[in-house]
Amino acid sequence: MHQNVNSDKQTTKTAIPQKFVYFFAAGESEGNAGMKNILGGKGANLAEMTSLGIPVPPGFTISTEICAHFYEAGGKLPDWVRPAVQESMNKVESKIGKKFGDVNNPLLVSVRSGARASMPGMMDTILNLGLNDQTVEGLAKSSNNPRFAWDSYRRFIQMYSDVVMGMNSSLLEVTLEDLKEEKHYKLDTEMTVEDLKLLVKKFKDLVHQMTGQSFPADPWEQLWGAISAVFHSWNTPRAITYRELHSIPAAWGTAVNVQSMVFGNMGDDSATGVAFTRNPSTGEKAFYGEFLINAQGEDVVAGIRTPQPITKVAAAAAGVMSLEEALPQAYAQLVEIYKKLESHYRDMQDIEFTIERGVLWMLQTRNGKRTAAAALKIACDMIDEKLITQDEAILRLDPAALDQLLHPTLDPKAAKTTLAKGLPASPGGVNGQIVFTSEEAVEWKEQGKKVILVRIETSPEDIAGMVAAQGIFTTRGGMTSHAAVVARGMGKCCVAGCGDIEVDYRNETMKVKGYVLKKGDVITLDGSTGEVYLGEVKTIEPKLDGSFERIMKIADGIRKLKVRTNADTPKDAQTARNFGAEGIGLCRTEHMFFGADRIDAVREMIIADNKMDREKALAKLLPMQREDFYQLFKIMDGLPVTIRLLDPPLHEFVPHTDEETKELAKRLNTDYERLRSKVKSLHEFNPMLGHRGCRLAITYPEIYQMQVRAIAEAAAQLMAEGKTLSPEIMIPLVATDKELDTLRAQSIAEVNKVQSEKNVKFEYTVGTMIELPRAAITADAIAEHADFFSFGTNDLTQTTLGLSRDDSGRFLGTYVSHGILPKDPFMSIDQVGVGSLVKMGVDLGRRTKPDLKVGVCGEHGGDPESIEFFHKVGLDYVSCSPFRVPIARLAAARAALIGKKIH
Ligand code: ADP
Ligand code: MG
Ligand code: MG
Repeated sequence: MHQNVNSDKQTTKTAIPQKFVYFFAAGESEGNAGMKNILGGKGANLAEMTSLGIPVPPGFTISTEICAHFYEAGGKLPDWVRPAVQESMNKVESKIGKKFGDVNNPLLVSVRSGARASMPGMMDTILNLGLNDQTVEGLAKSSNNPRFAWDSYRRFIQMYSDVVMGMNSSLLEVTLEDLKEEKHYKLDTEMTVEDLKLLVKKFKDLVHQMTGQSFPADPWEQLWGAISAVFHSWNTPRAITYRELHSIPAAWGTAVNVQSMVFGNMGDDSATGVAFTRNPSTGEKAFYGEFLINAQGEDVVAGIRTPQPITKVAAAAAGVMSLEEALPQAYAQLVEIYKKLESHYRDMQDIEFTIERGVLWMLQTRNGKRTAAAALKIACDMIDEKLITQDEAILRLDPAALDQLLHPTLDPKAAKTTLAKGLPASPGGVNGQIVFTSEEAVEWKEQGKKVILVRIETSPEDIAGMVAAQGIFTTRGGMTSHAAVVARGMGKCCVAGCGDIEVDYRNETMKVKGYVLKKGDVITLDGSTGEVYLGEVKTIEPKLDGSFERIMKIADGIRKLKVRTNADTPKDAQTARNFGAEGIGLCRTEHMFFGADRIDAVREMIIADNKMDREKALAKLLPMQREDFYQLFKIMDGLPVTIRLLDPPLHEFVPHTDEETKELAKRLNTDYERLRSKVKSLHEFNPMLGHRGCRLAITYPEIYQMQVRAIAEAAAQLMAEGKTLSPEIMIPLVATDKELDTLRAQSIAEVNKVQSEKNVKFEYTVGTMIELPRAAITADAIAEHADFFSFGTNDLTQTTLGLSRDDSGRFLGTYVSHGILPKDPFMSIDQVGVGSLVKMGVDLGRRTKPDLKVGVCGEHGGDPESIEFFHKVGLDYVSCSPFRVPIARLAAARAALIGKKIH
């Protein structure tokens, strides 16, 4: 559009795009749904809806690319943007037959943000822009509705002064509330034209007083201000918090949509609403939404009045009037449109609409956010409806979100005292101490407390508090209120719109049914029913429904990676099996040493002065270890079980205070001084790099010998009982092939001894963990002595990056927020660095043994992004904590599908 920009503008770093304003109107849309990167989600979908023949008020989108230019110009709108905007405004004017700024028949517009990824409520929208003392008269006349004109004007001043001029909006809000109180009005809609005129005057005076600036009367000045404010809103603290939370890169920027206004506040034949094409909480296939008569956009979500359900069925349940009954024609059209949108986008849609004097207009559509349960149900239903394929269903699901489903719910049998019932806005059962501000939620959380954030309604400023809280509770607002939408997005329990409870911010109390709860009192929320209970209510493990099982089965049919679990106890092993684990990938035997009944035997072994004493102590441990392994093998019944031999340094098992040492000396019947000096001698400056793992076994072979014997004897016992099994003995912290060569020979000798003693044979393997860079680099030599590799990516991350997981908390956060590291490398594998070592280890190992079985047992085995990487480098399995097993199954299936797509 504007190729010939001034040469001085060439100094900006980012190239100026040839075209950066995209018009949309019936039959003339320049954008489409595929252009989200430059038009943002909102703009792209407005253009797409227009092309589908759906009524959308005409307008245009300023591309996301301009956001970077805005910041490069020091937070100012570059001059060269203006002509293109003016040109597009002319086109809107001629489409509608109104003129922007015209005193007789003024065109009003909304200015809306819209990033690539939807950021609900994060950016400010300005409505009714273009009004001033002259145009408001024109609007009053042309609409023949002065009340509406002045209502729009006062709304505009409220929004604009807040969003653009940075004034505290509560000042104007208080003025409005004072007026209503004075006149004994309950609702905004009761205000008369005279009231509204007076308000506008008061508002403008207040704006001048507070900001030192007059409220801008020139519509173009208003427009430039509003556009700049949208670009600014990309970098407000609350937007940054949201972006960080959802990994949205700062570089994406936001687009700006300028759109002609339609009015839901023109009287009782006008309305505004939001809806989901299916229930976003349960996934049920039922049109689901809320609306308000004679209101404008934000009113529904802001919780100013409690909105009414759209459908007759839903409204009847609440005893109120539905849109279906109030405006049947518009409703019928809305139904037709939502169906069209859902089948066009082939996904559940979240839509916004406005009805102006009986005429329906669509203002937004996007793929709706949903709970994990809803996501699974919708995916299954859409497969059945032949709307999507099984592969598509899997690709759409977010593995991490499954976590929500695995959370506990309230025990229906537990005794409880109901305080009130609100709306079931986001499921889950949680309890915590109540706090009334976001700041306090964050502070208390930092002190290790569990909190419930209680608010009359939430706003985007509350994001940090919502993150910190166990659950969110509001007394106003509906199922589509800010609190509800954001909570569902976070997978957090939320009860909204609970009008029976009275919240008093000033005294920090909430009152209901004669109870007065103070800050710090405990309540329990049931986000699935909307119930609020006094005190803490017992929870139970969740029950997974048919959709979950079905999706898991589909995923299992697609994935190539096996999924095992990290489990040291029968309970964990059983949980993991129930979640579909295909074996144990890591059993940490040291956890078995800490039991109250055996820790002293372990200590005896550690302080032993000679081999004989050590063996005596180990003999006490042998039957206990054997029983541990017996249980695990039995639960895993034929599935592979990898047992890692002792890893941590011995000093972790001995007491460190004098008091404890004295007591232990007494119990072990040994001399205190001797014990103390023994403990002291175990001290290490850097235990992580000290005498641990296979190094212990090189110096004290008896320890591993006992463990291997326990494994073999347990296996022999199960064989005798007619079971099959294949234990995998894993040697940790190997750096050189010589270590493994030595320890493998000892292990095999011990197993052979047991086999001939018991006269049974069973399959078993001996392998190693690859968790030191040297092991990865020399994996070809190590593979000579290994039947399998398991990457211990926790230690491999520590040793590759040269940082300790326990000490890096102090600076890792800064590294991530400064973009020096893309993510915490302990949560998601550092693919470039640690990942290269994994790949090298796999390739070298298989060069020696093409069939070498290779897996991963670090924390990363349960991280979807890392799983995608492990699939790519050709691992056989991942192993993760029991509750992450379903997540890993789904993630592995997605990895396989993504891999297929690329090739
Ligand atoms: P958000 O991104 O927070 O959803 P929106 O830009 O969608 O913000 O706008 C907020 C509200 O204003 C929505 O309810 C929307 O329907 C309404 N709105 C936006 N533009 C217009 C318009 N041109 N006419 C009428 N209502 C509008
Ligand atoms: Mg919106
Ligand atoms: Mg390790």
